[in-house]
Amino acid sequence: MRLLITVLFASLFLSSGASNKVLQIGLFWGEEPTEITVQAGEGNYTVLGNGKELMQLKGGTILRVKNTNGLLQIRTLSEDLGTYYSVEINRNVWGSSLKIQPTGRKGSHEYYDNFIIKPYRGALRIINEVYIEHYVAGVVESEAGSKEPREYYKVQSVICRTYALNNRRRHEAEGFQLCDKVHCQVYHRRSMSNPDIVKGTQETIGIVIVDSDINLVNAAFHSNCGGYTCNSEDVWSSKLEYLRERVDENCLEENHSYWRYATTKNKWFDYLSVKHGYPVYENEAASEALNYCPDDRDHFLNEDGARVPFKQIRYDLGLLSAFFSIDHVQDSIILEGRGYGHGVGLCQEGAMNMAKRGYSYADILHYYYKNVHLVNLSVIDFFRAN
Ligand SMILES: [Zn+2]
Ligand SMILES: [Zn+2]
Repeated sequence: MRLLITVLFASLFLSSGASNKVLQIGLFWGEEPTEITVQAGEGNYTVLGNGKELMQLKGGTILRVKNTNGLLQIRTLSEDLGTYYSVEINRNVWGSSLKIQPTGRKGSHEYYDNFIIKPYRGALRIINEVYIEHYVAGVVESEAGSKEPREYYKVQSVICRTYALNNRRRHEAEGFQLCDKVHCQVYHRRSMSNPDIVKGTQETIGIVIVDSDINLVNAAFHSNCGGYTCNSEDVWSSKLEYLRERVDENCLEENHSYWRYATTKNKWFDYLSVKHGYPVYENEAASEALNYCPDDRDHFLNEDGARVPFKQIRYDLGLLSAFFSIDHVQDSIILEGRGYGHGVGLCQEGAMNMAKRGYSYADILHYYYKNVHLVNLSVIDFFRAN
């Protein structure tokens, strides 16, 4: 860590890392609108068609952009400004935001910074070129809600920033970096509901999580681990040294700590035998499928025999987690589960409770990610440039 601090200090004199500061986000991904209206929220904008200035967008001026025969038709309420193959909407002042409303849908979405619009399969491809910290605050609000302690927003900011930079080639073939849906990270709008979210982002500005080789980590998280987090290889195929199982008592009193799922014995045995070839007519195996109560997380039902992965049962039956006991009363089967989500990495409800009890965001991240370092992005630029 001392080396990193030295490097961090040295890197202040090096490149500013501009490439890490702006992200291209595909808005309305998978449900691209054919027509939108836009107007300035904060500040004001310049609108360009095919690279040439068309107009200034300020105050209450409303602009309509529509895919017409594969080109973008631009008009205000009073004037048709022509058709173009590309439209850019660039802020004139820092802090400008644009309200976008897809025609025929409810509500507008407001985003900071710049926009590129192109025709896309009869609809509009809308890309938000956004300063990373503006994006991070928007994602934190969408992913964590607006009622958490500020220290928790710092945790989620660092995770979100790390994830975004680690996955920024995900949509390269589509001409942007990340989408705005749960496929990447949910980004509905700029953060507006709680000033602590923006403060949490600013107080961790540029901080990301790296492993011992200074590579950005896969900052996996889930809603509630039920008391035990998982090793990465128990859920996915790859073993990552920083995603290790651990006991977590911080999340046991939460909404998502427990769940129940009921079915019939016939359905349960049918499912196990048809889908997994489970020997339901063997006494010992049948007994385990009816009475199973783990002390901590196991990975297979009938570990020494049929080895049915709990994660597969979770997927097949749509359970909230892969961590549950099995009990039966006459012909009814009850699965009593713990936690919500895959269980790998940071447990959000546990982290929220740690934040409420006064732990720092760094303590919390080190609790859930093993042997990682928190560094400024400029450190990564330094290593990449050298
Ligand atoms: Zn995506
Ligand atoms: Zn937990």
